[in-house]
Amino acid sequence: MSMQASGGGPWEPEDFERELRRSLYRFDCPDAQMLGDYQLELLEPEERTRIAAHAVDCDECRDELQTLRAFLAMPTLVADPPFAAVRRFVATLFTPTPGLAFGGLRGAADSSTRVFEAHDVTVSVGRAQTTGSLLGLVVAAGQTPDSLEGHEVRLSPRDGLPLRTQLDDLGNFEFNDVPAGDYALEIDLPDGVLVIEELRVD
Ligand SMILES: [Zn+2]
Repeated sequence: MSMQASGGGPWEPEDFERELRRSLYRFDCPDAQMLGDYQLELLEPEERTRIAAHAVDCDECRDELQTLRAFLAMPTLVADPPFAAVRRFVATLFTPTPGLAFGGLRGAADSSTRVFEAHDVTVSVGRAQTTGSLLGLVVAAGQTPDSLEGHEVRLSPRDGLPLRTQLDDLGNFEFNDVPAGDYALEIDLPDGVLVIEELRVD
């Protein structure tokens, strides 16, 4: 048992200082999802290193990671652990038979169109030459395209907030004004999140 008095005494200055430090730390802390992914070893090496380095200096995150570790080590008493509930499957680059997967891709995607596969899902991604938009088409075997309508697609740069859009009734998605760079793409699907870990946009 703790020796500390419980209940609502007035705050000591140390409390305030601790709270301030806490909020300062929190400012550049990775979010819970990121810490979860770190603990589940889902991150790129670069991201991993950054979080490991951050956690060395940040009590908050170290505590959080400890909690996560303890949680993950626990036998599965909880039916739906918050960050393991969603299945993530990583799509790999696939060299297509010409014309195979491009049929439904809206607009004039250029020759940089790439096709990724995970299980029975195919994702074609290409840059529209005319507008600079990033276009994509999701084809899931056993799913009609309109069953995918409204599912969210996230395009995450290495730094900064993800761009978000939704699949339309044909399984297409489109991101406008995408700066060149390295991205990760995530697509919410009925049975999990499809992840393309490395998507270079030129
Ligand atoms: Zn932190």
